[in-house]
Amino acid sequence: MKGCISVINSGSSSIKFSLFDELENESLRLVYRGQVEGIGTDPRFKAKDSSSKTVAEESWQNRSEYDHEYLLGFVIDWIRKNRIQMELELVGVGHRVVHGGEIYSKPVVVNTEVLQVLESYIPLAPLHQPHNLESIRSVHKLAPDTPQVACFDTAFHRTSSLVSQQFALPRELSDEGIKRFGFHGLSYEYVARRFKQIVPSVANGRVIVAHLGSGASMCALENGASIASTMGFSAMDGLVMGTRPGNLDPGVVLHLIEQKGMSVQDLTELFYKRCGLLGVSGLSNDMRDLLESNDPHAKEAVDLFVYRIKREMGSLAAALGGLDALVFTAGIGENSAEIRRRIGETADWLGLSLDEKANEEGQIRISTGDSKVSCWIIPTDEELMIATHTRDLLNKKIIAEAS
Ligand code: ADP
Repeated sequence: MKGCISVINSGSSSIKFSLFDELENESLRLVYRGQVEGIGTDPRFKAKDSSSKTVAEESWQNRSEYDHEYLLGFVIDWIRKNRIQMELELVGVGHRVVHGGEIYSKPVVVNTEVLQVLESYIPLAPLHQPHNLESIRSVHKLAPDTPQVACFDTAFHRTSSLVSQQFALPRELSDEGIKRFGFHGLSYEYVARRFKQIVPSVANGRVIVAHLGSGASMCALENGASIASTMGFSAMDGLVMGTRPGNLDPGVVLHLIEQKGMSVQDLTELFYKRCGLLGVSGLSNDMRDLLESNDPHAKEAVDLFVYRIKREMGSLAAALGGLDALVFTAGIGENSAEIRRRIGETADWLGLSLDEKANEEGQIRISTGDSKVSCWIIPTDEELMIATHTRDLLNKKIIAEAS
């Protein structure tokens, strides 16, 4: 039997999964990818094969009966049935875990002690960490002998300096772990590795990667390692996102509590679900809708999205002491020539000149030949990054145990 790795990314309203097998040259190949969406409202399951053909669909009517635990069980069972049919043996399961705190700067094989440490990080990411850990527990319950690996969104940023992680808060609060962690680390790690494969000479320089999806952030990399990020203590800081505000004066939070009587729940709902592109436009959190709309508020939302990127790009370029390359990734970064063009225009002072045709066509390199700062599109693949870590870590563990 051939080995395979399964990846689970369990969030509050969706469970994403994928299955990879291994080719003879040791690269991983996607077999299935799928998700359950609409958890808590109208759960729908869909699985696709490697050519994006839908191979299974399911939906559920009675939402209270079909909760997170039930749906995770459904996903795990679907993966089991389908891999057995393909004569694939499960080597391990990799999980996306949002917070690895200050301890984990690399992925880790999960055991009881690790799980306890990860549980202690729930207060640092109360909306995401519980679901991430629930999926680890579910797999353990259904397949106790299957090794599991936790891969963290924060780990990649542990290379950044103390000063770039610090808030100017009293020391005792910093010592408790109130600091900048940075997120989207699995995406940045994947893009940094791909960039090194494509143009090592440039990737080893001073690079800003713009991960622009529903969640959006930017990361400054020096020689492929993170030195600064726009995201901070939580995944709400930095850029304007689909429904999150990004950078916000703490005075606004105090005002909302004091003058509007808002509770922690009210603020959590406001900052995670009603701000960002949706809040400013009053129309949609989807960049495609806003770019197509004639509504002046849609235009305002897009303007603010681009303006905040321009400001943060200056800040990250300053942290790097200059800039050699800008890389776009994730839904908006990979697909919207219009947003790339507008960001490119705001970065001309840095020496960036976009090649209009290459940008429209979505080529890998989209800057002109004489552009001082080169510009690239590198599609991200967080699932493949998790599968790679899982395979590498378990192989290493097997070797270590055998020796
Ligand atoms: P996430 O993984 O964070 O949910 P994605 O990286 O898939 O998000 O990005 C999703 C976003 O990408 C969508 O909300 C949409 O706004 C944007 N997007 C996708 N395709 C396009 C496009 N052609 N033009 C503009 N925006 C796009």
